[in-house]
Amino acid sequence: MAAQYTGKMPQKTKAPPPAADPAKAKGGKPSALPAQAKPQKRASGKAAAPLPAAVRRAKPAPVVVPTEPKPAPRRRAVANAAAAAHGRTLAAWSHAEIVEAFTRFEAADPEPKGELEHSDPFTLLVAVVLSAQATDAGVNKATRGLFAAAATPAAMAALGEEEIARHIRTLGLFKGKAKNVAELSRLLIARHGGQVPRDREALEALPGVGRKTANVVLNIAFGEPTIAVDTHLFRVANRTGLAPGATPLAVEEGLEARIPDRFKLHAHHWLILHGRYICKARQPECRRCLIADLCRWPEKII
Ligand code: SF4
Repeated sequence: MAAQYTGKMPQKTKAPPPAADPAKAKGGKPSALPAQAKPQKRASGKAAAPLPAAVRRAKPAPVVVPTEPKPAPRRRAVANAAAAAHGRTLAAWSHAEIVEAFTRFEAADPEPKGELEHSDPFTLLVAVVLSAQATDAGVNKATRGLFAAAATPAAMAALGEEEIARHIRTLGLFKGKAKNVAELSRLLIARHGGQVPRDREALEALPGVGRKTANVVLNIAFGEPTIAVDTHLFRVANRTGLAPGATPLAVEEGLEARIPDRFKLHAHHWLILHGRYICKARQPECRRCLIADLCRWPEKII
């Protein structure tokens, strides 16, 4: 029968008390161990030898939870090559389609942000230089210690190549990157009074700084409407038909020419985040994609 509602909180049922030791209950001595914990005797009548101390101290092996494998760089390169081949067969999106796509990106995330930790143009520049062939999470892990030790060009130059390398040794190509960071810090002092220049040519003259890094710095640090084409933008632009192109520069020029000015400041972040989390190299999540109806990728799954 269902319990009747009384308007009172139900009382917790008390757990039954532990079973009394029958030996103690009879007035005798309490038994030292529960029956199952007593040492078992061998058939010979002798007690089993205790386990060696090393074995008793050994911890059980940790349980390894399998995680989804990350796409290897080679597989991403293959996916991007397939996207570029597809792009060569496409008519690019119309102006109306581009406006529609960016209107949706803007509505979903009006102020998109990059994921590299930094506090000013210099720390941003260093973080972007370190991000080649590395994830943003990996760079952030390395730069927390590095920037605590040196966060200005003068301090970084004084820290020196060897110490910089020690802080960033978890990153690929860390020796070359350390050399570049030390040298670009020295050059910023020698040529630009210790400031990061707001000028593409001057930026690209620094060691380790190419067109993509200069575009990121100009966009994030100085609010210029530049569009840095990395592996994610290259793939998205070619798969969708937004701005097909055989090289990163061709894609960048296509995006520059076709994206309306009012969307340009945030276009880089919208597209990089879309490529990183939705339009992934091996398994794009087309069912979560807000531009799926506009996309011309023949393998999309919707
Ligand atoms: S529909 Fe799929 S392939 Fe096309 S942009 Fe979206 S996630 Fe990428």
